[in-house]
Amino acid sequence: MSEFICLNCGMIMVQRQCKVRCTRCGYFEDCSDGGNDHPNVVSSAAV
Ligand SMILES: [Zn+2]
Repeated sequence: MSEFICLNCGMIMVQRQCKVRCTRCGYFEDCSDGGNDHPNVVSSAAV
């Protein structure tokens, strides 16, 4: 799979579901770009 590089600090970002997040600076991006629809989206759950 492809890796995401933080545009802010250059660290490799971790992908979680439909977001990628930098563990170093906290920068994150949505990767819901032209993907499949998720009919069961729960955005209130935090791990
Ligand atoms: Zn970063």
